[in-house]
Amino acid sequence: MDNPQIADRLDAFALLLELVDANPYTVRAYRRAAETIRGAAFPVAELVTSGRARELRGIGPGIETRLRELVETGTIAELAELERELAPDLVGLGRYLGLGAKRSVELARALDVSTADELREAAAAGRLRIVPGIGPKTEARLLEALARESEPRPQPGLLLDRAWELVGGVAAALDGEAAGDVRRWRDSCELLAVVCEARDPRSVLERFAALPQIVALVEQGERRAVGVTIEGVPVELVAAEQRRFGAALVRATGSPAYVAALEPLPDAPDEEAVYRALDLPWCPPELREEPFRGEPPALGAPDDIRGDLHCHTTWSDGRAGVEEMGRAARERGYDYLAICDHTPAVGAVRGLTPDDVRRQADEITAANELLAPFRVLRGIECDILANGRLDLPDDVLAELEWVQASVHGGQRMPRPELTKRVVEALRNPYVRCLSHPKGRYINRRPENALDLERVFDVALEEGVALEVNGLPDRLDLRGEHVRDALRAGVEIVCSTDAHSVRGLGNMALSVATARRGWATAAHVVNTRSLRSVLNRRREAP
Ligand SMILES: [Zn+2]
Ligand SMILES: [Zn+2]
Repeated sequence: MDNPQIADRLDAFALLLELVDANPYTVRAYRRAAETIRGAAFPVAELVTSGRARELRGIGPGIETRLRELVETGTIAELAELERELAPDLVGLGRYLGLGAKRSVELARALDVSTADELREAAAAGRLRIVPGIGPKTEARLLEALARESEPRPQPGLLLDRAWELVGGVAAALDGEAAGDVRRWRDSCELLAVVCEARDPRSVLERFAALPQIVALVEQGERRAVGVTIEGVPVELVAAEQRRFGAALVRATGSPAYVAALEPLPDAPDEEAVYRALDLPWCPPELREEPFRGEPPALGAPDDIRGDLHCHTTWSDGRAGVEEMGRAARERGYDYLAICDHTPAVGAVRGLTPDDVRRQADEITAANELLAPFRVLRGIECDILANGRLDLPDDVLAELEWVQASVHGGQRMPRPELTKRVVEALRNPYVRCLSHPKGRYINRRPENALDLERVFDVALEEGVALEVNGLPDRLDLRGEHVRDALRAGVEIVCSTDAHSVRGLGNMALSVATARRGWATAAHVVNTRSLRSVLNRRREAP
């Protein structure tokens, strides 16, 4: 069993535990363990076999027992039991129809059904109304939903990292291409699709239906099927003829408006041929949002990035130390990494006092001796206080090489107050970059009221850059705002805000988000040499 397989099973276990209302702490612990294992650079199965699993971060005796069982027997008995009892395909279908997971399970128990087909039969036989809590209205809604399963209720989209994991996994298993919202790197993915080239579509469709990610099929045609995941998320499969594959991929990738503007698409075996036949240059998927027929700019790419300017360590809420993060950044081929831990006002987690900042400097110096010529930069993620002042005194900020300014608490301030507060912070001569400017958490917290046009003006005057934060639930600035910033002449920084070694991998998400905002490498500060990044600093008054 390889690391991703083990991690997938732990994730599945966490999901089922959540459905049976297990202690949220336990659920989180399994998710964390899965993340650790997925990111481990060595075979975890061997560690488990040799009885050393607990050397891994976040793995206690309970999880170790489950891991041992999984590695030795290939399964976790309790997981198999839960899967039988909870009927994941029903949960997936229920969610797809707009029922919560718990409601789906209750429904299945009351009707004594355990598959999606049995649920459909029970509904057709009029048995839904015997279920306690299901009145005529809900019954009518469900029957209607079951009758038109191909049009799911709108639901919040998947975060980009989960969407890539899901669609990338399906695509790899079927030897196809990921398409839909994921291929455009939308910040929240609703239309998930995979396009395969298939001479024998039936066998591809069968393999699709049998994938562990797909718990129920809700639609099936000759060359097309829609399956749902346990979260109730629909995934479309297109099994295209070889001579039409390019057209199918273009169609499954672009937004409806983008594709409509290109129709009718000529049949062609690959995308390049489709665009050629249309007499258009090939268009990067990130730009296939609005109708567009022109010459696309040379977008920045992950390979252009020379360093990461925002990450955390165990000094605040990160999970790795300074040296470990630096080494990992060096292994990614970077030239530099700025350590930007929190300051005390952040509240929920530990923040660095002036004293801590100076003690951390020693650790950074030591790491630099080991990692040279790679450079670990002394940085900070300094909270912007309610009055616009920064959370560390200027003499401390002056010692640092990279200062990120961040609003954490008080995102709900009205527009004039919040804008004034941020502008005040940008006027501080030591601030280099404004972190996650709009303060959103995708699907959880809306964007704040910050007046970006005003911020762009001041950022331009002061030489401050704006961050494109690569955390999958932030992606802030988002693509549209990146485009506005660049039009205003403001430069951006692509950062991961990594809290672990694995988190450094979110650079792909940040860069793709910048690309959605039409950024070229020249717009992105951290595509430049360290000297150029440091010299960008404004003169202190
Ligand atoms: Zn932050
Ligand atoms: Zn941060």
